Amino acid sequence: MSQFSDQTGYNQEEAEFKRREAEALAALRAKLDAQRAELKSPASRPANWMECPKCGNQLAETRRGDVMVDACSGCAGVFLDKGELDLLLSQSKGTVLGRLFGH
Ligand SMILES: [Zn+2]
Repeated sequence: MSQFSDQTGYNQEEAEFKRREAEALAALRAKLDAQRAELKSPASRPANWMECPKCGNQLAETRRGDVMVDACSGCAGVFLDKGELDLLLSQSKGTVLGRLFGH
């Protein structure tokens, strides 16, 4: 008999999966926050730190749900640091965004 044959077992399996997924997301979020904090150190900043690559205006960090984006006040462009797209896609399974990036 499959473990999925009774609804209670399935619900427990689903809850465990969601708990592990939430833990993995929290760990990735913490890692990305640590990387961001390190980049904020003046010594490690490049000359064009937080300048929009499209229009040159200043980018501002903005939190959208669990994802940190760099949003431009000039052209309204939105940029993602390495790892942020993975975090976004991990929450976008089955959505247009997920399908667009192959998840
Ligand atoms: Zn811009």
